Amino acid sequence: MPASHTDTADRAVPGTPAATQGLPGDGLPDAGLRLLAVHAHPDDESSKGAATMVRYARSGADVMVATLTGGERGDILNKAMDRPEVRASLPEIRREEMARAREILGVRQRFLGFVDSGLPEGDPLPPLPDGCFALQKLEDAAEPLVALIREFRPHVILTYDENGGYPHPDHVKTHEVTIEAFDAAADPDRYPGTGAPWQPLKLYYFATWHRARLVALHEEMERRGLESPYAEWLAEWEETPKRGRVPLEITSKVRCEQYFETRDLALLAHATQIDPESSWFAVPLDVSATAWPTEDYHRARSLVDTELPEDDLFAGIRERVRR
Ligand SMILES: [Zn+2]
Repeated sequence: MPASHTDTADRAVPGTPAATQGLPGDGLPDAGLRLLAVHAHPDDESSKGAATMVRYARSGADVMVATLTGGERGDILNKAMDRPEVRASLPEIRREEMARAREILGVRQRFLGFVDSGLPEGDPLPPLPDGCFALQKLEDAAEPLVALIREFRPHVILTYDENGGYPHPDHVKTHEVTIEAFDAAADPDRYPGTGAPWQPLKLYYFATWHRARLVALHEEMERRGLESPYAEWLAEWEETPKRGRVPLEITSKVRCEQYFETRDLALLAHATQIDPESSWFAVPLDVSATAWPTEDYHRARSLVDTELPEDDLFAGIRERVRR
């Protein structure tokens, strides 16, 4: 087990139905459904699948973010925030940013207590720092997540694909830990002392920056006479398609364009990590909503039968959950 903090800042958010009623989402169509998004760092939840979480949370589902590390080794990516006093207390500031983002998204969130591995840079790459998340043994790294799954009992879990979505060692480790926990949480002989077994029913990988979406955003920008931030990226993509990787098959697309603005606000709450002038915000909301109104997923595991493609992560589950 990691020695550092474990947060319990996951209580109901003030002002939402959860704060005033017996169960989260009482009376709403998705009440009784539970979604867990597993992420490496604070801010990842706001850049991958955030509008999906808002959609389900607003319709009554109980939505939890698990953040495996505290983001202690993140760079400060917003010039306006790159000040000595911010650098000196980055871990605390990132926790405050996470708390604000969580409130904006209207979800619960739990830090699982590991220490950020940092993104190694240089040639040759430097070794990972002692004690960091990516160096933990799989069983040690997965135990807090198994415990959270057994406590929260999610029907659906979201995380990164086996390449981590991008090659940060914490993202790759997050994938490995989530697979381990998905498979082990229902086994009473595994991870004793972490609660009663629970079987999640579906596991999805985020498919956020895929080519079809980029092309659609790019073309809609051009159609409106706006400067697309993706021209260079797309040109590179043609030359080296995802560094030789096979793209993830998109099996599931969730309409959530009405929550894109909330997603942007949550991302901006991570002020040390996001430059408001960056290309994240170069595409106007109505362009995104028109060109690509969904967030997209690859279904990696399912214990229920549903036809693909899907437009609902709880397809095949709603009818089984007594609400
Ligand atoms: Zn990250």
